[in-house]
Amino acid sequence: MFKSCWCLCPSAGLSAAKLLKASGLDPVVLEARDRVGGRTFTVQNKEAKWVDLGGAYIGPTQNRILRLAKEYGIKTYKVNEQENLVHYVNGKSYPFKGSLPPMWNPIALMDFNNLFRTMDKMGEEIPRDAPWRAPHAEEWDKMTMQELFEKLCWTRTARRFATLFVNLIVTAEPHEVSALWLLWYVKQCGGIMRICSTTNGGQERKFVGGSNQVSQCMARELGDRVKLQSPVYRIDQTGDMVVVETVDKQTYKAKYVIVATPPALNLKMHFNPELPPLRNQLINRVPMGSVIKCMVYYRENFWRKKGYCGSMVIEEEGAPIGFTLDDTKPDGTVPCIMGLRTQRKLHMNNIKRICEIYSKVLGTDEALHPVHYEEKNWCEEEYSGGCYTAYFPPGILTQFGRVLREPVGKLYFAGTETATEWSGYMEGAVQAGERAAREVMCAMGKLQPNQIWQPEPENDVREVLMHQITSWPLIKKMNNQWRNTLKSLVMNPKHFLP
Ligand SMILES: Cc1cc2nc3c(=O)[nH]c(=O)nc-3n(C[C@H](O)[C@H](O)[C@H](O)COP(=O)(O)OP(=O)(O)OC[C@H]3O[C@@H](n4cnc5c(N)ncnc54)[C@H](O)[C@@H]3O)c2cc1C
Repeated sequence: MFKSCWCLCPSAGLSAAKLLKASGLDPVVLEARDRVGGRTFTVQNKEAKWVDLGGAYIGPTQNRILRLAKEYGIKTYKVNEQENLVHYVNGKSYPFKGSLPPMWNPIALMDFNNLFRTMDKMGEEIPRDAPWRAPHAEEWDKMTMQELFEKLCWTRTARRFATLFVNLIVTAEPHEVSALWLLWYVKQCGGIMRICSTTNGGQERKFVGGSNQVSQCMARELGDRVKLQSPVYRIDQTGDMVVVETVDKQTYKAKYVIVATPPALNLKMHFNPELPPLRNQLINRVPMGSVIKCMVYYRENFWRKKGYCGSMVIEEEGAPIGFTLDDTKPDGTVPCIMGLRTQRKLHMNNIKRICEIYSKVLGTDEALHPVHYEEKNWCEEEYSGGCYTAYFPPGILTQFGRVLREPVGKLYFAGTETATEWSGYMEGAVQAGERAAREVMCAMGKLQPNQIWQPEPENDVREVLMHQITSWPLIKKMNNQWRNTLKSLVMNPKHFLP
């Protein structure tokens, strides 16, 4: 079969194919699984109605995925955050409002504010499209996030919270990830407040009916151009056309190919000619994060009655879950709490244990009596390799990052990992897919190079100016000089401080 372009695969691949088709080309999508959507996965059943067991949340500034959803008439709703959130630490629950839990100890609060402000400040000098060009790229890339926390934080309280922050946003441990990469990751999502907020942040909304609908609608539009159960294992570009072979021995030929999988999954493919050394090394060095999404269903939404919205920030080493959100349906039915189990907590696979910690945090036995449970372990998914996204260990971004989306002959690269805005998210997948489609169109002479990268107009889900990290006015006024003076007064901060 001869086609202008074969894309492997959704959501980035589907959005690439959608744009190519709209531009009069004839693309085909080869998808390994028996479903579209990849790292988004909506399950429908009697108990849950519908539930997103993969990517789910969207928010302001994620304009591309919101544009697609709007085109298909998929509505969004706000995740409940009306009542108090709760921070559980040292065995006690502290209700709070806002994005980040307050610290009652003023020294810990200063430390905490200084850490997050410094991270945002460091992010300012990192180019979204080329983090390896940041003035301090090499220095920061040699460091793990753990090392950066050791340098910046002088309280255990801030260090502990910072660890949870990394666990939740990239499903890896601070000692595993490059500081440069993590600072870039936060920056390209719009900063600390944007990435960790529900209201006005990355977790503000969900799609009514589930996120998978976006991929399903694109697949429907593409019709029989989408070939399911077609895992690609060989890509040969030694001739005039690129020849793509699938595990079931189907052969396809095309002028161009867009590879839209996480980078490490290219290790399952045979390339002829072999990939260039930098690309070959890159795909060997970018592992995926580790996460299990856990959904606990209850007869009643008892947490709201107790004045809690369902968001829990849980700092306890023995607790399987670190963070939760209310996942009750927008019409109030099917009460549910969504919890994330990441990295070092993966082995704590026991629903009873999850309910016990919810019961402690919310202060009620009602949490001990779930009526249904759903979970999805993304670490076992052959065609994802883990989730949410690929992470960069120290030293990799500066050495190999520059080839992340550099074409290899007639191969172009998409996938959320190659995005420059909300990389790691559904938004990043759409940006990457559409950018790769325009690269192909450019190669075909249908577009100018300066048309490849296109900004996206703001969607109806409007961006609100992000508030400052500090909410305590007194602390706001304390500048770094103050902090340093105070620090020098403390002889041995490691023993003295909380
Ligand atoms: C638990 C969890 C929570 C998340 N939370 C959020 C969230 O709240 N908000 C958000 O925006 N994002 C979230 N994400 C991340 C989001 O889902 C992903 O960033 C996004 O779906 C990536 O899309 P993609 O098209 O780049 O990659 P994928 O979805 O991974 O698509 C790649 C496709 O390639 C296919 N494939 C792999 N190998 C081959 C092969 N050899 N041949 C053919 N096909 C192949 C795969 O089957 C897959 O369909 C979450 C993910 C998970 C798992």
